[in-house]
Amino acid sequence: MDFPLHKISQHCYAVTEEEYFTNAGAIVLADFIFVIDPLYNISHAEQFRKTLEKLNKPLQYIFVTHYHGDHVFGLPAFSGIPIITHQNFIGNLNRRVQTDWSKDSLLKRANEDPQDSSWLANVTFHYPQITFKDKMSIWGDSEITSQNNQEIQIFHTGGHSSCSSFVYFPSDKILFAADLLFTYQFPYGGDPNCNLDEWINALKLMLSMDVKQFVPGHGKIVGKEEVEKQLNFFCETKEVIIAGLNQGLKMEELNFPEYYPFHSENQELKTRSLNQWFQYYQNK
Ligand SMILES: [Zn+2]
Repeated sequence: MDFPLHKISQHCYAVTEEEYFTNAGAIVLADFIFVIDPLYNISHAEQFRKTLEKLNKPLQYIFVTHYHGDHVFGLPAFSGIPIITHQNFIGNLNRRVQTDWSKDSLLKRANEDPQDSSWLANVTFHYPQITFKDKMSIWGDSEITSQNNQEIQIFHTGGHSSCSSFVYFPSDKILFAADLLFTYQFPYGGDPNCNLDEWINALKLMLSMDVKQFVPGHGKIVGKEEVEKQLNFFCETKEVIIAGLNQGLKMEELNFPEYYPFHSENQELKTRSLNQWFQYYQNK
């Protein structure tokens, strides 16, 4: 079977197979290819790279939207290609490499679940070659005219994690939201540095832009209605938490608004998300 790399606009491509667990993308400029996230599993990442190479342009950069495992474990398949991340990525990754992503921990995980995780024993982590702070642009080669602009814009917002960033390609009106957007499913927000206020602001910023298609980190490509839906859910959730805190209620006593179910059966991750958001406002 051909690798499912879908062309979604003149220059943009996306991989959104549910079975790959996470999405990825690419922007093909006049003179090179800009990759967005590597995919989770190394063998899928290798197929992704090979398929991109068939487009006959150099893979110039791989942008990693944040440090979560499903967005970095496939990176060894892209070795040799400079990695760009937000500057907070390094501290976040360091923390994991010293704890649950140490060589020993990954080996243990691979041994416990050899069928699905044997490849994890060989995963290595590398520093990015380029980091940025608030916003950066990558430009493909194009003559300077008013209509011929190959600028890729990258925005750091935080929210889902402290290094979370999104990519916007104005000339095609495509926005790669990564894990700032989960479509038709509950958004995971259990990271210890998940910040719901920053996440709300990130979604507002995305909605202020001229976008035809939003590529989420998990789920199907959508228009702005689904982004508004997630934003409304967050705003209502925030209101419930703050009202509850003002009344001295515990997390278990709150009535959270209805939303999509969590995508996996692991409901613990949903509870972890709600807990993180509750604690965030409790400590604020
Ligand atoms: Zn994530």
